[in-house]
Amino acid sequence: MAAGRAAEMGAHVLLLEKTKRPGNKLRITGNGRCNLTNTRDVAGFIEHLTPADPFLRNAFARFFVQDLIAFFEARGIPTITEPDGRVFPASANAQHIVDALRDYCLEGGVRFRYNSPVDEIIVEDGHVRGVRSGETTIEARQVILATGGTSYPHTGSTGDGYRLAQRLGHRIAPIRPGLVPLVVDDPAIRSLQGLTLRDVRVALYRGERRLVEATGDLLFTHFGVSGPVILSLSMHLEKDGEGPTRLILDTRPHMDEATLDDDLRQRLAAMGRATVRTWLRSLVPNSFAEVIIAQSGVPADRRTSTLSAKQRHTIRRLLKGFSMTVSGTRPMAEAMVTLGGVDCSEIAPRTMASRLVDELYFAGEIMDVAGDTDGYNLQIAFTTGRMAGEAVARAILTETSKG
Ligand SMILES: Cc1cc2nc3c(=O)[nH]c(=O)nc-3n(C[C@H](O)[C@H](O)[C@H](O)COP(=O)(O)OP(=O)(O)OC[C@H]3O[C@@H](n4cnc5c(N)ncnc54)[C@H](O)[C@@H]3O)c2cc1C
Repeated sequence: MAAGRAAEMGAHVLLLEKTKRPGNKLRITGNGRCNLTNTRDVAGFIEHLTPADPFLRNAFARFFVQDLIAFFEARGIPTITEPDGRVFPASANAQHIVDALRDYCLEGGVRFRYNSPVDEIIVEDGHVRGVRSGETTIEARQVILATGGTSYPHTGSTGDGYRLAQRLGHRIAPIRPGLVPLVVDDPAIRSLQGLTLRDVRVALYRGERRLVEATGDLLFTHFGVSGPVILSLSMHLEKDGEGPTRLILDTRPHMDEATLDDDLRQRLAAMGRATVRTWLRSLVPNSFAEVIIAQSGVPADRRTSTLSAKQRHTIRRLLKGFSMTVSGTRPMAEAMVTLGGVDCSEIAPRTMASRLVDELYFAGEIMDVAGDTDGYNLQIAFTTGRMAGEAVARAILTETSKG
């Protein structure tokens, strides 16, 4: 987007790509469908960013969701908006987005050079002079650094940009995985591998502090937990803090304690001489029922008619507040996004220009701003790319017109 926009506005653009083709990560987004963006308003978008500060407010005011949809529709890529507001290409094919962006660049005259990792940005007297890729030095009046984060490194995003920016004096906020599955080191949880609980509410705690909660699908895996609700919560993990990190799972988010208690009693009455196991299996999937039985200490073969109120309350509390202790995250390579990056206070929010080095710009995930699942990260990349491309073109055209 950055290269295409700069070229469209009249700049001569050379795009240096480390790998042998463009858009490796874009091609796998949204499970190959590419969740381009979503229909929340600017305030709603900013709430879902980490950090949730207004750095992007100005840029969003100039190129946001409808502009992005119009951009792709004008390039022959109609989009669909799902009931939850997420926007995808109607073809459900991320490759079409990659192709559209490549064609946009080619139409503007962007030259592509593949297998060309940038190793150094050449700066003299505080001004960018060009870049070095291997033995080759390339002169450039402006440079946009859009090297992504460090997650899914086989796509080419290996964190080079952080090192390049740091060498030029930029502060890099600590890098850590975001939108990442969580490890729960507990055999009982691992026994649930393969189970998905739909539409559950999960709260994230550090010690006794409730950090955040989210609702959605949760998937148990061989290492712990994943699924949309867990990926969202992973954005809010605290590295430092007192007490263990815990997830408290509410399998009945739409019922308060009293309503659930009534519901449980009615079901018990209707079950006659059934066992506790049979009763619980009518409430939750079989494997989860076994874990609840083990944690409650209630004998599985006890007749429901003999269940005491105390035992019923114990089971109700587990259904509304099942606790899991998080021992860590899966590695960065499995994260969908990189948290941390170039400190945004050192970037001008209208142009994405470096405040430290003249003629240097940033776009995309390299910056210390990331979003939740649901298309936030691509909208960030497209908006900031657009801003950087425009600023570069304007600077070059102004310079040229001055002679
Ligand atoms: C599996 C997966 C699914 C995702 N799905 C979605 C989704 O559906 N919706 C959404 O909004 N977000 C999604 N994301 C996040 C989103 O893909 C990224 O936030 C986005 O691609 C970032 O764009 P970028 O241009 O900043 O970086 P990238 O897309 O990572 O591109 C950076 C490019 O720079 C190149 N590069 C790196 N170093 C150098 C160097 N030294 N010299 C030259 N080139 C270099 C890389 O090869 C790469 O081509 C997903 C991420 C993953 C991993």
